[in-house]
Amino acid sequence: MFYENFITKLLNIKPSDLLSVMSSSKKDGSIILKVRLKPKECYCHICNIPRKTHGYYQRKLTHTTLVNRQGIIIYEQRRYKCSECGSTFSECNPFIDTSERVTYETKINVLKDLKQPENTYTSIAQKYNLSATKVTRIFDKHVTIKRKPLPMVLSIDEHYFLSSYYGTKYCCLFMNFQTGVMIYIIYDQKKNCLTDYFSSIKNETLDMRTLKSELDNVKYISIDMYLTEI
Ligand SMILES: [Zn+2]
Repeated sequence: MFYENFITKLLNIKPSDLLSVMSSSKKDGSIILKVRLKPKECYCHICNIPRKTHGYYQRKLTHTTLVNRQGIIIYEQRRYKCSECGSTFSECNPFIDTSERVTYETKINVLKDLKQPENTYTSIAQKYNLSATKVTRIFDKHVTIKRKPLPMVLSIDEHYFLSSYYGTKYCCLFMNFQTGVMIYIIYDQKKNCLTDYFSSIKNETLDMRTLKSELDNVKYISIDMYLTEI
């Protein structure tokens, strides 16, 4: 009963959704909690007959409450199978995105910590047993930074990333040439990306009476990027 209450509070699920919590301990004294949720009635979308449980897939959850503690939560995600056509699929789970093992609560705590200027991606990654890349991805996925208005003198420069997961090695920096303030970053430096970016600003800010947009604020551009074919 203790573990049931602990798990439902920890993972923010209803007690009625929980089927079982099995605990075991490792030689080093740490505890492993295996969690299963109650099965839900679901039908095969091809045959329209109920699917049956077809085993479990173990997923280790990274949870903030257990960071730095001797405990591991393993979520045994149920697999369903249709006895008629053999199709299988996983149950919906309330803790994590299908392709991830980081719980929603962990992501929220990571985002809260990112608000503190003294924290870095690396320090937060160490705190939650994540990689710095993973923390960067959480930030990029959930935080949208509003673009600053285009300045009178715009500086456009490219920057090389040694390791990038955006499919390109270069990003494009837009800065206020006079103040050095960053305006925006585009994760590509290709000509068509820049064209799309400026077109979107024009579409968003065009005044139909004057036929002027925010692009008209820019009087000078400083740029030293090389010309690409695309
Ligand atoms: Zn079927």
